[in-house]
Amino acid sequence: MSTTASAGQTGRASSPAQKALQKLGLSRDIDLALHLPLRYEDETRLTRLSEARDGETVQIEARVVRSEITLRPRRQLKVQVDDGSDTCVLRFLNFYPSHQKTLTEGAVVRVRGEIRGGFLGREMVHPSFKLAGGELPQALTPVYPTVAQLPQAYLRKAVLGGLSRADLSETLPPEAWPVALGPMWTLRQALAFLHQPSPQVSLAELEDRSHPAWQRLKAEELLAQQLSQLEARRARDAMRSPALVPASQGSSPLSGLRQRLLKGLPFELTGAQQRVEAQIAADLWREQPMHRLLQGDVGSGKTVVAALAALRCIEAGWQCALMAPTEILAEQHFRKLVVWLEPLGLHTAWLTGSQKAAERRAALAAIESGQASLVVGTHAVIEGKVQFSRLALAIIDEQHRFGVAQRLALRSKMTQTESGQALEPHLLMMSATPIPRTLAMSYYADLDVSTIDELPPGRSPIVTKVVNQSRRDEIIARIRDQIGQGRQVYWVCPLIEESEALDLRNATETHAELQQALPGQQVALLHSRMPTADKKAVMAAFADGQTAVLVSTTVIEVGVDVPNASLMVIEHAERFGLSQLHQLRGRVGRGAAASACVLMFSTGDAPRLGDTARARLQAMAQTQDGFEIARRDLEIRGPGEFLGARQSGAPLLRFADLATDVQALQWARGLAPLMLERHPQLAHRHVQRWLGGRSEFVKA
Ligand code: ADP
Ligand code: MG
Repeated sequence: MSTTASAGQTGRASSPAQKALQKLGLSRDIDLALHLPLRYEDETRLTRLSEARDGETVQIEARVVRSEITLRPRRQLKVQVDDGSDTCVLRFLNFYPSHQKTLTEGAVVRVRGEIRGGFLGREMVHPSFKLAGGELPQALTPVYPTVAQLPQAYLRKAVLGGLSRADLSETLPPEAWPVALGPMWTLRQALAFLHQPSPQVSLAELEDRSHPAWQRLKAEELLAQQLSQLEARRARDAMRSPALVPASQGSSPLSGLRQRLLKGLPFELTGAQQRVEAQIAADLWREQPMHRLLQGDVGSGKTVVAALAALRCIEAGWQCALMAPTEILAEQHFRKLVVWLEPLGLHTAWLTGSQKAAERRAALAAIESGQASLVVGTHAVIEGKVQFSRLALAIIDEQHRFGVAQRLALRSKMTQTESGQALEPHLLMMSATPIPRTLAMSYYADLDVSTIDELPPGRSPIVTKVVNQSRRDEIIARIRDQIGQGRQVYWVCPLIEESEALDLRNATETHAELQQALPGQQVALLHSRMPTADKKAVMAAFADGQTAVLVSTTVIEVGVDVPNASLMVIEHAERFGLSQLHQLRGRVGRGAAASACVLMFSTGDAPRLGDTARARLQAMAQTQDGFEIARRDLEIRGPGEFLGARQSGAPLLRFADLATDVQALQWARGLAPLMLERHPQLAHRHVQRWLGGRSEFVKA
């Protein structure tokens, strides 16, 4: 049987094991060589039973003295072995005829497992075993990340094959290696070592990945990531966008729109809003497409900044599109923008999947003719039928809720041809989940980031309390009190996809409970399965202050802005992620009234909350700073999950760890541009080597 999975063979996998290799993305020799062990087993030594301590994992060689199947307390195979120094029982709860065949009386076997002191003497449960004989291996035995259908032994052979065939010539200029990372190992040395380390090595250094061989691999990986992102950025810089320079003062009916909007606002921009607005303006003046992330905590005032960017685009005589992930959120934007833009004589079009055909036709016509200066909507904005007349700026709110493909669709479908030249729209992405610095450095090397790091004045802090579900009555009393003061309340029930029906029942029951507990008050229910029109009506009534309490599943998660709401209760808060809790909490504290958030938890059948749930709720109670929360979220979840598979579009790291490999990251960031400039061939080979075979990592 061939263990080769050479390049060019993709898609023609025949055996289940070969298919599994493909599934792991191990199609080229180099991919196999870069598939590194999770841990190691030491099979280089034999331990005498008399010297093995309880709890230790050891390898012994011993003779089978008895082998029997017992039926009590349950069916199992018990094999007694003796190595001359002591005896021990091997116990198998699952076993096959092959077990009995090898472990037959008189056979000498090599067994590896954890020694335990059992009631009836020492034992190993489900050890691995084989007939004794043959040399002991010289190196530690690697254990690789794998999937079903791909046995370790097969994978090991395949990896060693890949390692022997792969081109491992150096891509790093040797003078580039930083002293801080320790001695430099060549790639070949590092890989040979990590796949077959000598037993003398410190296992600790291997496990915490501080060994020089690991340092080399992690640095390589980070460099590949930085290079590929830089390449993406260069590619984008080669594209052209319209430079959105305002028409000279007075010469156009469109000049001075921004000034007029600012004059009409009931507030002044914060310093942070002014700063990011200027950063965006500088981008829009250029002929290269903007690719900017505008991040700002919930309530920091991103919408008005987006509106100002849109006006810059419109002043220059172009169209702007704004897309939001949900209809409720898109509609909020629409309503606000209409109020801001209509007095300036500008037409805003509305596009969503649920609108009536006639309304939609009218919107499409206004977009195509250029009569609509701004288009606001959901995913409907990127659908095939939508034709812009002169699109130059696309704004995406809550960008992490869109997949890479959708972002691309937005860009490519809107590519405009002006006098034969392809033009790209400028792209402004907004997010209320601030990205911690190390992540931004690593994952967003091809993105410019603007941060609103200041809240508008006059916001009162939100007091956050973590309480047990058993104190529900107190909480309801609190709600009564708030309503008495003319305030409004959100009550959020979790939505777990696997059991939507159940969640719905929860929300419905809570709704009934609150209606009963608050006689004479309007208590409304909002959930994700409701028809859009109903959702809108419920939201509108709440925004108008007609409803006192809004019980909802997480459809209110983002963006909703009702300043009179002063209390938020989150039921089963332990089921929410940290960022999600923070987003939810941001729905209150938007007005001047003192606001509160109650995180109600239930431990279910468990005696207490699990550690991560506890850590999340504690973090929420301790801080209201979105950056701090994002940092803790990252700590609790790790970068992969934090970003979410859909969010990144950037290669996730397999080996390097952003929390500990900051030095290597900084080195890679510094080296990448130099390398692209001075050694473009090496840079290209390096990226191909690391990312070329992994289609899921190929840069969007
Ligand atoms: P987010 O960043 O979460 O999208 P919004 O844009 O919805 O925040 O703004 C939250 C609220 O703050 C809105 O009611 C908005 O009108 C108001 N706001 C925005 N900027 C300011 C400011 N500089 N001063 C006072 N209020 C502001
Ligand atoms: Mg918003």
